[in-house]
Amino acid sequence: MYRETKLVQIGKSKEPVTGAVNFPVYYATAYQHTGLGESTGYDYTRTANPTRRVLEEAIAELEGGDAGFACSSGMAAIKTVMGLFSQGDHLIVSLDLYGGTYRLFEELLTRYGISFTYVDLRDIEEVKRAARPETKGIFVESPTNPLMRVTDISAVCALARTNGWLSIVDNTFMTPYLQRPLESGADIVLHSATKYLGGHNDVLAGLIVTRGQDLSERVAFLHNTIGAVLGPQDAWLLMRGMKTLALRMERHEENAAAVAGFLQEHPLVEEVFYPAFHERDREIQEQQASGFGGMLSFRVKSPEMVPPLLRSLQVIAFAESLGGVESFITYPVTQTHADIPEEIRKQVGVCDRLLRFSVGIEHREDLIRDLDRSLHLAQQQQ
Ligand SMILES: *Cc1c(COP(=O)(O)O)cnc(C)c1O
Repeated sequence: MYRETKLVQIGKSKEPVTGAVNFPVYYATAYQHTGLGESTGYDYTRTANPTRRVLEEAIAELEGGDAGFACSSGMAAIKTVMGLFSQGDHLIVSLDLYGGTYRLFEELLTRYGISFTYVDLRDIEEVKRAARPETKGIFVESPTNPLMRVTDISAVCALARTNGWLSIVDNTFMTPYLQRPLESGADIVLHSATKYLGGHNDVLAGLIVTRGQDLSERVAFLHNTIGAVLGPQDAWLLMRGMKTLALRMERHEENAAAVAGFLQEHPLVEEVFYPAFHERDREIQEQQASGFGGMLSFRVKSPEMVPPLLRSLQVIAFAESLGGVESFITYPVTQTHADIPEEIRKQVGVCDRLLRFSVGIEHREDLIRDLDRSLHLAQQQQ
């Protein structure tokens, strides 16, 4: 079955009693037993919930994994997975990383004795140099946030396998519709489902998919033990959003390509970061994914242009998230990446002229007009 069909079918034919075409929300926290040692498979909702389970089976199938786990947020998913590591362990991590993940690693997990080295994962030699005897895992974002750099996921996962490291890929930007890291050799895929999978800026959720029985059992233990699980109503909302993922991703991508092309020609824009524009990134992306997604970043000519530009936008929202049907522009320096130290931000290229654009599914001409008008007003008002 094609992915488009699998997405639409989420939750269908799963409720034989009434034939409901979307799976109901089970609010019950406890499930009655007919006798000692007997169970319907549901005992207590933290361990398993029928609505959540339909979602978990769907994401596992979409990513080509063995088990899925739904968490209360993307950060909850990452924290749950990090429970696989112990005091003294070391991980190699994408340099250009989601700010919240960096904060979790550096401000919380270092206190538990886990250490991290941030590396440009495009350079496999640099990855090898960062390895230590106590290295136990590698954490990848591709394309990266916000500079849209592409990591060769197969190469990094192959290196991880040779060294016995666990490979974890944050697939939030691509979704399983465009990219399936488990097929490229990753052990674990995770998502902030708050973004494209939900798609409507109305549900906070995280998802984990594991490969192999042993790893699946270990993550199931952590999911139940930590307890940062997704509530049934949110699981239902997320499934509703996921049914239209294929359509949305196609429009996001068409619009992003059009906007990226427009910005690249614009006299007030200095540089556009979009994987299709960079030869090496484009080649790898074409091998490991079936598209470039709906995210891009761009640098304007001067930092003084940023405040009037953000004030002038009428169609595009100045807001801190991504992946929804509505277009959002984010200012990484003060928003998503504010917790990353200035020296690392500089090294990566997250400067005060950089804006990140989550291109929505509006008509592309309205987006282009809004940007053009705002860029010109910003130049006059700076
Ligand atoms: C938003 C985001 C997260 C965190 O997810 P939440 O759902 O906000 O907790 C993690 N990784 C990436 C790439 C993100 O964009």
